[in-house]
Amino acid sequence: MPLLVMKFGGTSVADLARIENAAKKVQAEVERGYDVIVIVSAMSGETNKMVAYVEGTSKLYDAREYDAVVSSGENVTAGLMALRLQEMGIAARSWQGWQVPINTTSAHSSARFMSIPRENIDAKFAEGFKVAVVAGFQGVSAEGRVTTLGRGGSDTTAVAFAAAFAAERCDIYTDVDGVYTTDPRITNKARKLDKIAFEEMLELASLGAKVLQTRSVELAMRYKVRLRVLSSFEDTDENSGTLVCDEDEIMESKVVSGVAYSRDEAKVTLVRVEDRPGIAAAIFGPLAEAGVNVDMIVQNISEVEAGSVKGATTDMTFSCPVNQIARAQKAMEDAVASGTISYDGIVVDSDVAKISVVGIGMRSHAGVAATMFKALSKENVNIKVIATSEIKISVLIDRKYMELAVQALHDAFELEKA
Ligand code: ASP
Ligand code: MG
Repeated sequence: MPLLVMKFGGTSVADLARIENAAKKVQAEVERGYDVIVIVSAMSGETNKMVAYVEGTSKLYDAREYDAVVSSGENVTAGLMALRLQEMGIAARSWQGWQVPINTTSAHSSARFMSIPRENIDAKFAEGFKVAVVAGFQGVSAEGRVTTLGRGGSDTTAVAFAAAFAAERCDIYTDVDGVYTTDPRITNKARKLDKIAFEEMLELASLGAKVLQTRSVELAMRYKVRLRVLSSFEDTDENSGTLVCDEDEIMESKVVSGVAYSRDEAKVTLVRVEDRPGIAAAIFGPLAEAGVNVDMIVQNISEVEAGSVKGATTDMTFSCPVNQIARAQKAMEDAVASGTISYDGIVVDSDVAKISVVGIGMRSHAGVAATMFKALSKENVNIKVIATSEIKISVLIDRKYMELAVQALHDAFELEKA
């Protein structure tokens, strides 16, 4: 039997009517001849509510009990989905993580998959069951305790099952109808993509296009799981949504596929750092230990002050999420206090945003950066930091120009046209 994985996010199972609607989509696939593994999230809002229960009970909570509580929302929707399918005359059975078993590491609240043995679910399919409904987001550790995978983890559960069961496709049902060239709230010219390559999606997912958990895309890329993002709020067929797939499946891709942004960035410059071997390690080591997610890094020669007796110095600039600024500053002050680094000053700009253009076509096309910079200059947007990779160019700009910049770049690369 060909097999599909269908995942329904929180808004797609928000109440009994939404569960019934989702069950009908499952029924349609069963009628097309598929065995189906359904992965469900908790009803929308439930996980947040349970996180609040835990935090309201214990400040320094035991992570094992946090997982015991917050994993429970998925148990409810899994059972209800199986019941609804049975009411429709479909042989369905629900599975909690430990029953499969979904074996994970013991890193509570951020566990990773170890293995998903197929025997138990395969045996049920062999008995004539058509649907296995599996609670997303959870697993079981070697110690036999319930674990969770981190917020948004049901996407990753779905991809892991698609890989383990060699599914034809993994359909992620959500409340948007696909992946767009940029955020439609910023420009109404944003266009839904029919297909997008794993690598592009990875860049867009990590840059804040919050449709899929980044880990799920990484896993899909590694195991070449074809992923489809589509809406459970619309009538759908086999051509709906956006297919996230290997680039070989995309015949003619545009040079740039999308414009992503990240609003809450900050830029930190250490002014006139002593320039010597090991200085970068002495700066970024402590930042990493402090849990600061450093993104862009630029090093340049410092201005030499007249009469300065200091040796060679360099300015070191990096960006990180704005809410990590205090941690970053403390890490740098501690490093100065312990004598491992010294600088003349630290300059923090917490009003910046990052804009990125992404596209696998960039690998073989010159001129993308030039087009990007020209479009920004036409709008008088000043670029503060630039970083490039094989398939992405990112700039830091003043946050107040973020929307304008996204619109200008969307126009410049003609992303409204297919
Ligand atoms: N219910 C979990 C969360 O809200 C997992 C998920 O829905 O993906 O994070
Ligand atoms: Mg989600």
